[in-house]
Amino acid sequence: MTSCALSNVDPLTSNLHCHTQFCDGHDTMEAFVTQAISSGITTLGFTPHSPVPLQSPCNMPDCDVAAYFSEIGRLRQLYGHSITLLAGMEIDYLGSDWGPGSSYFDSLPLDYRIASVHFIPDFDGNPIDIDGRVTSFNKKMAAHFRNDIRYVVQTFFDRSMEMVEAGHFDILGHADKIARNASHFSPGIEDEPWFIERVRALLSATISKGIAVEINTKVLDDAGRTFPRERFFSLLLDSNARIFINSDSHVAANIDSGRSRAISMLAEAGLFSKKHVDEIKISKK
Ligand SMILES: [Zn+2]
Ligand SMILES: [Zn+2]
Repeated sequence: MTSCALSNVDPLTSNLHCHTQFCDGHDTMEAFVTQAISSGITTLGFTPHSPVPLQSPCNMPDCDVAAYFSEIGRLRQLYGHSITLLAGMEIDYLGSDWGPGSSYFDSLPLDYRIASVHFIPDFDGNPIDIDGRVTSFNKKMAAHFRNDIRYVVQTFFDRSMEMVEAGHFDILGHADKIARNASHFSPGIEDEPWFIERVRALLSATISKGIAVEINTKVLDDAGRTFPRERFFSLLLDSNARIFINSDSHVAANIDSGRSRAISMLAEAGLFSKKHVDEIKISKK
């Protein structure tokens, strides 16, 4: 069930996933707002990495949460006539003990929730961040996972499926992001039938629960891929999925990164009508 705050959000002119000074982003929320307005974005959603019950330099500490919501309020006062600002979080799913369904999040005035898997357990059950850069991923493969890439990928998708089954969120974050690091470690792995089937199963479960899927464009301009990959767009079309196009940007200047290319790819796949896309392009000129 998608949050009411998202019911009228147009995926062609919104961005619902970005990171600011409140977690591991590099610019202020206000810098993101002014950049979004000048990029023609009409709805901007903030999604700091949620507090988690473990040491993580990338996640917002609980003691900053009140300041985050008060900054949203201040920016709405200043810019609310030009743009709709939504207060979200990218909530880490750490297993049955911590995730979007945890009571902690019910106490917060969130407009919507993205849920993502960034941590998976090693063989001793310790949570390890597998979402970082390739060099750090490769080191962790040796240090924590005995270089067992199949274990890492399968566990990522097992965790993602558990997260979807547990629900209490609106948008699935970067569905197949493990593919990027896994493919650097083991080229071709994401083209193997079992891998493709894991992504298809995850997307199908997500859509059947009424959860929206983001088309994450974070590396589209640099690496030419979205999360989920373009090969899954036909599944999104056939399943009538609700989608959003999100840059997952950590710097204000990249708030619109990959958007126009993603829109063209999605239109090509039939997810938007070409007429609708052309209208948006004309209105942004
Ligand atoms: Zn993420
Ligand atoms: Zn993110």
